[in-house]
Amino acid sequence: MRPIADNFSSILKNKKFKPSIIVHGGAWKIPKGQWKKHIKGCGYAAQTGYQIMMDGGTAVMAVVEAVKVMEDDPTFDAGVGALLNLLGEVELDAIVVDGAGTRSGAVAVVKNIKNPILLALKVMELTPHRLLAGRGAELFAKKIGIGKCRTRDLVVGRELRRYELLRKIRDFEIADAFRVNRGGTVGAAAIDENGDLAAATSTGGVPMKLPGRVGDTPILGSGAFADNRSGAASATGWGESIMKAGLTKAACDYIGKGVLAGRAARMAINELGRVWKGLGGVIVVDKFGNLGMAYNTPQMAYAKIGRNGNLSAGVD
Ligand code: ASP
Repeated sequence: MRPIADNFSSILKNKKFKPSIIVHGGAWKIPKGQWKKHIKGCGYAAQTGYQIMMDGGTAVMAVVEAVKVMEDDPTFDAGVGALLNLLGEVELDAIVVDGAGTRSGAVAVVKNIKNPILLALKVMELTPHRLLAGRGAELFAKKIGIGKCRTRDLVVGRELRRYELLRKIRDFEIADAFRVNRGGTVGAAAIDENGDLAAATSTGGVPMKLPGRVGDTPILGSGAFADNRSGAASATGWGESIMKAGLTKAACDYIGKGVLAGRAARMAINELGRVWKGLGGVIVVDKFGNLGMAYNTPQMAYAKIGRNGNLSAGVD
C-alpha cells in the first residue's frame, strides 16, 4: 500500500484546475471614507469562497458563502444594510447559477429573510422552479425551516437617513443613484478544482424603488449567469438597463466566441453604455480560470484571488 502522503500528493497533482474567485460590492460613486470597509468586506468574502474551494468545496458553495458573508456585512446593499423602497420597507432579490448543468435558483421581493442567497440556493436544489417571488418565496422559506428575521434586523441608520432625505427630493431619478453615494449590491463568480463555474448575486435593489419592483439581480442572464462552456458572471448597477442588455449572458457569450474574461467584461460593459445607455459593472471568470471586471460607473468595489492564490482587493 502506498503511504497516505503519497496518495494526497497524487490527488493534488490530478487536480485539473486551480480555483479562482472574484467578488464585487457594487458599482457606484463610493466615497473615499467608505473604501476601507468595502475593501475589507470584499476581501473577506473572496477569502471565504476561495477557502471553501481549497477544502474541496464546489464553485456553487463558494459563491453562495461569499455572497452570504457580504449579506451579513452592513456595508453593502444586500441582507443587513439593504436600501429601503418607497414605503420604507426592505424587499430583497438574490440568485445563484450553477455552470455545471442547467440549474439556477432565485428569489425576488422577499421580506424578513436575512440571507436571501440561502433561500435562492434552496429554490435551485429543492424546487422545479428558477424564481420564487414575494409571499410564495416566504412560504417556501417557512416550509423548509428558514426562519423570518425582523425588519429592524435588516435596516441600518445610514439607510433610514437616506430614505428620509430622498423622500424630500421630488425629481429623484433612479439612474442618479449610481452616480452618487449609496450602498452596493454584492456578487461572486468562481471556478473550482473540477473546472465547474458558478455565480451568485444579492441586492436590496435601488433607493426609492416602487414596492414590488424586481431589478436585474434575480433574472437569469442579467444579474448572474454561468455555463461551463464559457464563463460565470455577476452584475451590479442600474437594473432596468442591465436587464435590457442581458449583461451577464452577454459577457459569457463573448467568452463562448473566444474572448478571455477581462476583454469579455469590457465588451459587455461597453455595449451596456453605448447601446442601452446603461450604468453598471460586471465581474467575470472564464472557463480557463482567468478573472475580469469592468464598469462604467465612477467606481466598483471588488476582491479577487487568482490561480496563483494571491488576494487583491480595491475600490477602483
Ligand atoms: N442591480 C441592482 C438593481 O437594480 C442594484 C445594484 O446593483 O446596485 O436592483
